[in-house]
Amino acid sequence: MRHTMSQTTKHLLLALVVAALVGQVARGIAGEKLKVVATIPDLADITRHIGGDLVDVSSIATGVEDIHAVPMKPSFATLLNRADVVVLLGLEAEHAFLPALIEASKNPRILRDEPGYIDCSVYVNVLEVPTRIDRSLGDLHPMGNPHYNLDPGSMKEAARAIADGLGRNSPEHKDVFEKNLNTYLAELDAAIARWEKEAAPLHGKKLVSYHPDMLYFADRFGMEAFGTIEIRAGVPPTPGHIEELEDGMRRNKVDIVVRELHYPADLAATVAQATGAKLVELPAMVGGVPEAKDYISFVDYNVRTMLKAVQGG
Ligand SMILES: [Zn+2]
Repeated sequence: MRHTMSQTTKHLLLALVVAALVGQVARGIAGEKLKVVATIPDLADITRHIGGDLVDVSSIATGVEDIHAVPMKPSFATLLNRADVVVLLGLEAEHAFLPALIEASKNPRILRDEPGYIDCSVYVNVLEVPTRIDRSLGDLHPMGNPHYNLDPGSMKEAARAIADGLGRNSPEHKDVFEKNLNTYLAELDAAIARWEKEAAPLHGKKLVSYHPDMLYFADRFGMEAFGTIEIRAGVPPTPGHIEELEDGMRRNKVDIVVRELHYPADLAATVAQATGAKLVELPAMVGGVPEAKDYISFVDYNVRTMLKAVQGG
C-alpha cells in the first residue's frame, strides 16, 4: 500500500515537473516579454532602447504632469500588479504617487529593495543633497535634487541602472541589454557633443525657474541657476519673496525666466517683465510638448528653445 502511494506521488511529481518545463518552453517560444512600468516617459524611452524586443514598456506619467503630483488612477495599480519591474527616478521624486500605487498593486516583485525595483538614481551624481534631514520644512527634495532627467549626462547613468536592473530580472539576456546599452550610450554621447557645441551661446547666462528643476540642465550647458519663484521645492511664493527675487535678478542681470509648462504662467511672465528677463516655456519631461517624442528630441527641444530666447535679441 505504502509502496503504491509513493509510486503515485512520484508520478504526480514527475507530471508537475514536466508541466512546468513545458510551460517554460512555451513561454520561451512565445517570447514572453519582461513587463516594465516606468514612472515617466523619459525612463520608458530609454528602457525600450535597452530592452528592445525583450521588454513591454508602459509609463505612468504622460509627460505633461508635475512629477511631484502625478494624479493617481486605479488603472495604474492594475498595471503595476502585472509588472515584472518598475523603473523610477528615485530620490523621492515620485513620492506623491508611487509608494501608494505599489502598495495598492499587491505585487511583491516591485517592492523597494526587490530585484524588480529599478531606482535610476543609483549612479547619478546627485546635486543639492541636504546636509541635514529636516522634513519639517516641507521640502519636496529631501534626498537631494531629483530632476536629473533634464541633463543627458545624468541620464547616461540612469541608462546604466536600467541595464543592470533588466539583467537582474532576465539574467539570460544580460548580454543583449549590455550591447543595447552601449549602442544607446554612443548615440547619447554623439548628441551630447552636438548639444554642447550648439549651446555655446548659453554659457554664463543666468536663469530663474519656477521650481528648482533646471539645476542639472544649467550645469550641463554652462548656465547659472540663480533662484526660483517658489521659495523652496514645493513651497509657494509670497509677495515678499517675489520682491526680493526681482531685486536680486535686476542686480545680477538675470537673462531668463523658465516657466515649466505645468506651473502657472502669469507669475513667471510678471517676474520676467518686471526684471527685463526673457520668458522661456519648457517641458520637464518627454511628452511635455508634442515635439518631445523621445528623450533625444526632448533635450533637442529644450536646448533649441533656450537658444532661441538667448539669441532672439
Ligand atoms: Zn522637484
